[in-house]
Parts: sequence; C-alpha cells; structure tokens
Amino acid sequence: MAYDTQPTASHFVDGQYLEDTAGDLIEVIYPATGEVIAKVHAATPAVVDAALASAKRAQKEWARLSGTERGRVLRRAADIIRERNHDLSVLETYDTGKPFSETLYVDATSGADALEYFGGLAGSLTGEHVQLPGGDWGYTVREPLGVCVGIGAWNYPTQIACWKGAPALACGNAMVFKPSETTPLCALKVAEILHEAGAPAGLYNVIQGMGAVGASLVTDPRVDKVALTGSVPTGKKVYAAAAADMKHVTMELGGKSPLIIFDDADLENAVGGAILANFYSTGQVCSNGTRVFVQKGIKEAFLKRLSERLQTAIIGDPLDEATNFGPMVSQAQRDIVMSYIEKGKAEGARLVTGGQLMDGDGFYIQPTVFADVTDGMSIAREEIFGPVMAVLDFDTEEEAIARGNATEFGLSAGVFTADLTRGHRVISQMEAGSCFINSYNDAPVELPFGGSKQSGVGRENSKAAINHFSQLKSVYVRMGDVESPF
Ligand code: NDP
Repeated sequence: MAYDTQPTASHFVDGQYLEDTAGDLIEVIYPATGEVIAKVHAATPAVVDAALASAKRAQKEWARLSGTERGRVLRRAADIIRERNHDLSVLETYDTGKPFSETLYVDATSGADALEYFGGLAGSLTGEHVQLPGGDWGYTVREPLGVCVGIGAWNYPTQIACWKGAPALACGNAMVFKPSETTPLCALKVAEILHEAGAPAGLYNVIQGMGAVGASLVTDPRVDKVALTGSVPTGKKVYAAAAADMKHVTMELGGKSPLIIFDDADLENAVGGAILANFYSTGQVCSNGTRVFVQKGIKEAFLKRLSERLQTAIIGDPLDEATNFGPMVSQAQRDIVMSYIEKGKAEGARLVTGGQLMDGDGFYIQPTVFADVTDGMSIAREEIFGPVMAVLDFDTEEEAIARGNATEFGLSAGVFTADLTRGHRVISQMEAGSCFINSYNDAPVELPFGGSKQSGVGRENSKAAINHFSQLKSVYVRMGDVESPF
C-alpha cells in the first residue's frame, strides 16, 4: 500500500505545481503513527497573487465554453478519479488517518459523484423566457459569479475540494481552493486531475496555508464568492469578511445534531444508525447525531446492544483493510476530545464504554459512550468532533422535539421509529437542514446538504448548489414604442 505522500510541490497554480519555500513550513503528520510524512509550505503573498490572477484569466475563457463542453471536462475528471480510486484512497488515509475501509468507498468516490453529477447538469443550465403584457417579454440568463474561493476543513479533504469545485466549475466559475493545513495533500490531486481532464490552466488552483492565507483570499477584490467548510466561529469571521465587499457565501459549519430513537424503533437499526452517527470517521463528521435521545422504554436494551456492538470495532492500522476505526486527525484534536471526556465525567454523566487513550504513538481514542447525559452538560451542548456519544433519556415526542431543537446549531436531525407518520411528523418540526428517517449520515450528491440556524448558509450538492454558484441576469425586451412622460 506504499504511497509517495510528498507532493511534487506545495501548490497547484496555473496548471502546474508551484513551490515557494519562503512560506511557513507545514508538516503533514500521519495520525496513525505521529510521523511526518510530507512537508509543504504556506502560500506567500506572491503565490496567492499568482493563483488569483490565473483564476481570473482562466474563468473568462472557461465561461465562453458551452455548458456541455464544461461538463465533459468534469465528467472526464470523475472517470480519472474512479480509475485511481485505490491510490487516492490510500492518500486520503495518510492525510486524515481515516481507515482505508472507509476511504476506499467514500472519499474520492463521492468527489467523483459530484464531478459526474454537476458535469451532467452543466449542459442544461438555462434561463427562462417570461411573457409580459403588450407583447413585451423578458428573459433570464444564468451567469457565473467569477472567481470562487473554497476553504476546507480537515475531515474530508478530497470530498470538500470536489463538492465545492464541481458546482463552481459547472456554472462557469474558476476556483482557488485552500485545504486545511492539517490535511494539505488530497486537494492537490484533485487539481492535477482536473487539469489532466482538460480544465484550462488556472481554472482550479490549490494553495496551502493556515487561516491567514484563507483570510487574505476572502478579502481580495478579485474574489466573488467564498465557500467555507469549517467551524461556526471561523464561519462567522469569514462571513463578516466577505460581507465587507458583499461577496456571495456558502457556509457549511458545525453541529450538535439530535438523533431521536423511539421505543418502537427496530433496535438493531437504531443502534447501527447511532454508530454511524457517532463513530464513522472516528466521529469527525459535521452532521453527526451526537445527542442521542432514547425513549426510556428502550434505553437499557439500546445501551446493552450498543456496548456489545462497539466491542466488535476493529481499531488499529488504518491502512489495514480490516480496520474500521482509526485515530483522530491530530494530537490537537485528540486533546480537545479528551478534555470533553473529562468534562463529561466531572459533570456527572455515566461513562458506559471507552473514554481512554490507546497505547502507541498514534492519536487514538476509544469509541466512547456516556449515558444519563442532561441537556446542560458541556458534552450535550458543544461540538466535540470526536468519537463521543451522549445518550439522553426522554418520555414524550413533544419533549424530544423541544429538547432536540434547543441548540444554536441546525445542521442535521434524525429519527428512528416504526411509526412512519410519527417519523415525518417529528422531522417536519426539527430545525435542521439535513434530516434522516430510520437512517443517518447519508449524503448523496442528488440531495441538498447544509445547515440552518448557526450551522450554515446555502446548500451544497443537488440542483440547489447551482443557485449558490451562479447569478441571474434578467433582461426586459420592449416590442413597441417607449412611452416616456417627457
Ligand atoms: P476550522 O473552522 O478551524 O477551519 C476551517 C478552514 O478555515 C481551515 O482551512 C482553516 O485553516 C480556515 N480558516 C481558519 N481561520 C480562517 C479565517 N480567519 N479566514 C479564512 N479561513 C480561515 O475548522 P476545522 O478545520 O477544525 O474543521 C472542523 C470544523 O468543520 C467542525 O466545526 C465541523 O463541524 C466543520 N465541518 C462542517 C462540515 C459541513 O459541511 N457543515 C463538514 C466538515 C466539517 P487552517 O485549518 O489551516 O487553520
């Protein structure tokens, strides 16, 4: 499974790899061992300028193509990604520490899905004809925004680079993408593949750096739109900076989502849903259902089966295909999660399973479940972004809905019940953008994805994303004489 993780250079700008060692050094650490596996440099102002200048130029050329021609490039890139899925998945595992048993099926694959889906849509992006009184008429033109900046979190580096890039490019925009400094490798491959598939030089650039590089992109006058995946505090800063120049934004932010399990739910499915909602990608998923409300009648049976099934998790070397639970992405994230586990204990939650660091140099934490959690506890209010499930008890449907909604976040919500009417009734009252009935965390490209309340603005995926990466021009056409008062 060896993979040469050191990229040819730190950045991909204007159709080629670009290095500038004057930028701050960023060490890429393999989370399973703590070893440095690659080194890149943060973008200097010269690199930022080169990326934006090339994007500005390439966007004009790209927007002159027909949608069908643009779509062909995206679909070709999707094909290349699928052909190289194995190697890209290995790289994703090195970048993030997520098990290869996940990355092989989820990361490059969902990036390819996005490129294929938006590549397919590109040729059908049209405006409307509108008939008006007196024979006059109007039409609308769907136009690109211009240069879009994408800024990514570290949990899904390939997917985020594609989920932002695919709709942006389909609509005729160019993109400058800045991955998280924690996972800088995968997006470079996306840029390389798009170029190989026929994207003009400069259309999709990747530059490295910390928050400061992201901030310099957001405030640059050449940028028309900012699409961020990150935490709520970062989202507020980026949204405010973009507002200064009235730039368009998409904000995909954090959550503390409720998963409500009723007494009548199929126990195995509910336990499986709760596992997916808390332990997939070692719990580092924005939409996770980390507040698991379990109706009192099923609670002990739920906790018993959950504990039994967690004992079967295979924790270990992420590159071993049998492993299904890997390390945290970084030591810093592991420390944050451990501090929440300590808070959970100190605030009186009952530790059902896990809660310990694991031996070795990697950033491993056991899958952890707390029961008897109450709404005011830190582990029930704050996003932990790690493998820590909080189980809360409830009696009635009304109570579960009210308590589930009592959060500033609104990314996701889920319900498990055998009563289909109740399932829809509950979800219709949940204040969240991406919801699930008898399932959790599915994110097909055909469905909009994104949050309400403080979890975000705008939507990724689906036809809805087109509205966030394009703008409408409306044109009034008078067929008769102009009636002017003077
Ligand atoms: P952060 O908010 O810390 O960082 C997100 C990105 O923003 C990083 O690339 C970061 O750079 C960059 N950044 C930081 N400060 C600024 C700034 N002032 N201006 C511009 N860019 C900036 O999030 P994490 O990387 O820690 O990711 C975890 C968070 O992301 C969680 O809250 C999670 O819920 C959320 N998330 C949301 C998803 C969604 O779709 N709703 C999906 C996945 C994650 P750097 O890291 O280099 O400092």
